[in-house]
Amino acid sequence: MKTGEIAKLQKEYLIPTYAPELALVEGSGTSVWDADGNEYLDFISGIAVLNIGHCHPKMVRAVQDQVGTLVHVSNLYYNEKQPLLAKALAEHSGLPGAKCFFCNSGAEANEGLIKLARLWGSDKGKYEIVTMRQSFHGRTLATLTATGQEKVQTGFAPLPSGFAYANFNDLRSIEEAITPHTAAVLVEALQGEGGVIPAEPEFLSNLRKLCDERGILLLCDEVQAGMGRTGRWFGFQNYDVLPDAFSLAKGLGNGFPIGAIVAGESLADVFQPGHHATTFGGTPLACAAALAVIEVIEEEELLANTMMMGAYLVEGLCEIAAKHKKWISEVRGIGLLLGLVLDVPALPLQKKLQEKGMLSLATAGNILRLLPPLNVSQKEIDLALGLVAEACEELHEEMAAQSPNPCECGMGQ
Ligand SMILES: *Cc1c(COP(=O)(O)O)cnc(C)c1O
Repeated sequence: MKTGEIAKLQKEYLIPTYAPELALVEGSGTSVWDADGNEYLDFISGIAVLNIGHCHPKMVRAVQDQVGTLVHVSNLYYNEKQPLLAKALAEHSGLPGAKCFFCNSGAEANEGLIKLARLWGSDKGKYEIVTMRQSFHGRTLATLTATGQEKVQTGFAPLPSGFAYANFNDLRSIEEAITPHTAAVLVEALQGEGGVIPAEPEFLSNLRKLCDERGILLLCDEVQAGMGRTGRWFGFQNYDVLPDAFSLAKGLGNGFPIGAIVAGESLADVFQPGHHATTFGGTPLACAAALAVIEVIEEEELLANTMMMGAYLVEGLCEIAAKHKKWISEVRGIGLLLGLVLDVPALPLQKKLQEKGMLSLATAGNILRLLPPLNVSQKEIDLALGLVAEACEELHEEMAAQSPNPCECGMGQ
């Protein structure tokens, strides 16, 4: 089917929660092709999911082997892939005594974290979770309530109680949100959806101290920043801080749906049989995919590549930003979770790049989020930088034609 036909079928039969334009039919590494045969440089990676790129041969082989051996058994039975995967995650986490629980998505992993914190606090009268404004934690009722953004909550009242909000990178506001009923503070080390906003250097370590003083848990949502995206296994490792537990999903299965809770020793044995469960969590097939992902990150030294390529991409983006100081204000992020911060909406730039054969993602209004796979090459980054430079040049001229000052041309926020 061509794109037009697919779009027509989708309009008729899918609940319109999404508004896609492209129909993608094939991927390899950093490239994807649409239904009309056009190739794109994929700098979204399925929103930080395809950390080892499309159809990595090692993952393809692992999934193919496992699908013909054993797909699913239910958690009524052992399946060796689960403890093997849990061991790898626990070791990379650096959390002493860490143990894992497997589920199927980021929202589900965070929902599990919330339940874990509440069960931990249940005999202490602690149940409230403090989350950050502009955060993103998912779309289930509890996780959209945890998400500090009105736009995901509107229309879904009554929301579950037991959540309070504070400002990211503002310890004082967290202190003010803590009550005797607070069980945990939940943060992203680097807010992705909220606009690619990294924690400030001292913020997480001070927050760790605050949580320890108050006897409450520090939980990290690593759904987007985890699995090597920032050049370390997990985002909090950029800050020399250990949370009590954290959630994973997106990059964990490189597109095979799997999420996880990784809990340190204070929480590792709080859930006991009967407290929490999911039918599909940690199937042999999902775990085989995730184990292959971890092996590829290790064997191909993708953490080092992420740091190197991230630095290289930032350098190139800064050069472009310097040429357009009037409407590009900043390049920020860690590793390969990067944002080009504009003073104008980012959607026109995203669209222009798409026309030129590059996928990127307008985020939080004025930020162009760039998330290439962690095995992206310097050549691919050069290609991307060329396209971004070209698109910015064209946009600049279009804005100048409308008004000598781009901030007054109707594109301003
Ligand atoms: C994407 C995301 C989620 C939600 O994950 P789903 O798999 O879509 O449920 C939660 N937290 C963060 C930080 C995310 O980026």
